[in-house]
Amino acid sequence: MTRTTAPRPVDIAAVIPALAPLARTATRLHPRPGSPSCYDSSVGGPLLWPAGEPWPHCHDPHWGEVMSLRQARSKRQDAVCDEAALSEDDYQWKNTPEDLAKFQQLYDPDPVLPEGPIAMLPIAQLYVRDVPGLRAPAGKDLLQVLWCPFEHDEYLIPKTVVVWRSAAMVTDILADPPEPAVVQDGLGQFVPEPCTIAPEQVTEYPRSSELDDHLQQQLQQWEAAYLGIDVEDLGEIESPYNSDLSVAPGWKIGGWIGWHGSGPWVEPCPGCGEPTEPLLTIASWERDGAQHSWVPDEDRPDMLAGGNGCPTKINIGDAWDLVICACAASPDHPHVPNLLS
Ligand SMILES: [Zn+2]
Ligand SMILES: [Zn+2]
Repeated sequence: MTRTTAPRPVDIAAVIPALAPLARTATRLHPRPGSPSCYDSSVGGPLLWPAGEPWPHCHDPHWGEVMSLRQARSKRQDAVCDEAALSEDDYQWKNTPEDLAKFQQLYDPDPVLPEGPIAMLPIAQLYVRDVPGLRAPAGKDLLQVLWCPFEHDEYLIPKTVVVWRSAAMVTDILADPPEPAVVQDGLGQFVPEPCTIAPEQVTEYPRSSELDDHLQQQLQQWEAAYLGIDVEDLGEIESPYNSDLSVAPGWKIGGWIGWHGSGPWVEPCPGCGEPTEPLLTIASWERDGAQHSWVPDEDRPDMLAGGNGCPTKINIGDAWDLVICACAASPDHPHVPNLLS
């Protein structure tokens, strides 16, 4: 399986040479539903985890409505993910009587939030051999990311754990990892569909909000000329630079952060105070904005018709992204989660 992003409609570094030094390579992961094993790179797939190592659990307080993990994996998730705004009455029309019967069977009428820590769920497992541009600490070649399937604190983000390990050191694999009995039942969807990945490298430039004043002015003049409108009218429309030329949507390694409402502001490394850079972007959607030029060639018929924009079946907040940033100086320093609302 491969995924191919078309060349950008404009080579912006040729038009505005001052952008050229800001180019970064991102590796789009293109997760799509599949049956990955623990020996594969995956999103939401099984982890290569040592039998003798404790599985991560979240000890933070949890609250709110819950549903069983089994139910979260059922048909209902498709409807909620694709039509987040629909009520339960509304989504039923989308399903066949067989679907509804299955849903009733899976439906747990009274799930209870248990006392004590919550077992975390695998979110991503990436082998360095599969993902160009994935920068590992010395001696490590496997990145594993887990999260707790609840919103935490006022920012509504699931709590993440990042593990780097050497795959060759895992000889006795944990066969039956713990799972949470229940997960949060709300707008957020934190149970990923198991997906294989098809890494592809693309070139990105910072969002316009990260550029200095001089570059922003140059960019605005170019955008106005490109669109054939006055600079004053640019605020009325989607920026063609931000939509099509700067940051790719979806799951990826590296690159720039696709700020929209929030930011731009990234916490420094809690270990040493150095700047942090995007490591992994966990995205609610694979396509973005009014311009759809980032949709891979292989997915264009389906995605542009409205389907498959959310192949991982996760949703953070209101279709937000979570960017896990890592220390630019030492990749084994503690990570910093950033919410893109
Ligand atoms: Zn938690
Ligand atoms: Zn650091």
